[in-house]
Amino acid sequence: MSTMEDFERTIGYADRAVGHLKHDRVSPYPKAYEVWFVHLTGQNDELSKAINDIYEKYGRVSSGQIVHLHETFISENHLGDKVDKMGGKINEEATFLQDVIKKCYGMSQDFGKSLKQAAKDLEIDLDQHTLQKLIKRVSLETLAVEKQNEQLLEQLQVARAGIQRLHKDLEEVREETLLDQLTMIGNRRHFDRSLSQTLAECHLSDKSLCLIMADIDHFKNFNDTWGHQTGDQVLKLVALAVKGNVKTIDIPCRYGGEEFAIILPGTTLEQGKVIAERIRKTVAKRDVVKRSTGENLGRITISTGVSVLNSSDTPESLIHRADRCLYAAKKAGRNQVIVENDELFFKRSLKRLNHFESFRPTGNSAGFNSTDSPQPQADV
Ligand code: GH3
Ligand code: MG
Ligand code: MG
Repeated sequence: MSTMEDFERTIGYADRAVGHLKHDRVSPYPKAYEVWFVHLTGQNDELSKAINDIYEKYGRVSSGQIVHLHETFISENHLGDKVDKMGGKINEEATFLQDVIKKCYGMSQDFGKSLKQAAKDLEIDLDQHTLQKLIKRVSLETLAVEKQNEQLLEQLQVARAGIQRLHKDLEEVREETLLDQLTMIGNRRHFDRSLSQTLAECHLSDKSLCLIMADIDHFKNFNDTWGHQTGDQVLKLVALAVKGNVKTIDIPCRYGGEEFAIILPGTTLEQGKVIAERIRKTVAKRDVVKRSTGENLGRITISTGVSVLNSSDTPESLIHRADRCLYAAKKAGRNQVIVENDELFFKRSLKRLNHFESFRPTGNSAGFNSTDSPQPQADV
């Protein structure tokens, strides 16, 4: 294909990608554009199938679905490329090592033959001159082998450095597979693994363990009003607020979408409640301001549920209870923390829920405080 044809074809894909985004009323930010571009060029069958399914079902691909498609079919591929590249490098190193070993084997075989020959020669009576020649030959060959050994050693050292580099790369890829690329905290995979592991450890050592689940309030509205890209910046801010309020032993993760989960080993329910409350306050205390325009985007709040490990808990049951508390916090008016076993609160809120769609409590009986006034601003 000529450069011109290639250019026109690519422009065609680009126009169509933007056309689809316009049709679906999704801003053409890079990730969204990439999803459509990759689909239209037919490079990724699984992505295309997922898009076609969504179209068939909903008639459009929303920004939330775009994020999910990107995470599932494109980010993973970038990682796949890296893994492929490393696979290639490992192959190169392995072939190199094999060559070095073969060379080494060949050399010792040659030297062995030469020594055997020398031993045979020594069996017959030799005059002094021939004997001297023989000794000289053997010592020259020994020197040559020594030299070659030195070279081999150097090559082995180079191979060792290469393998160490690969080991480091592998470690980075491993960490990347567990990191949420937007917020740079653990991703869902990391959360699932860490929860089963930490839960088993806490069961064994009879230690307490808290789970906090937090969800941004009315985030759809925020995205609809300010755009998905600004929404992404808010997700980063919330992740920072989470990270800034937990200890290094705790495991903060992005559970999915605009939901966060924090595993707190060795933490009682009371302590978990205090931490959740600190995170909630950190998020809510500042108005968000768009750095590029100076626009005040208002206050972001989160609702939070906290559960604590009991002796019969599985990861699912612990998540389920934290989720139930989170749901109760939403129902009770958002921007608050609800912890399990807060029987009084549950009873009261359930009773009220029978009468009202939602309500906003004014007290602080369940550890919430929805009357905090916003303070300085956080840029996105
Ligand atoms: P609620 O207070 O009940 O949680 O309301 P909500 O609007 O936050 O909840 P809903 O489940 O209706 O919508 C979640 C929104 O979160 C919709 C989706 O666009 C947004 N979202 C999910 N993941 C991302 C993301 O990665 N980036 C951005 N910007 N938005 C996201
Ligand atoms: Mg939400
Ligand atoms: Mg949600």
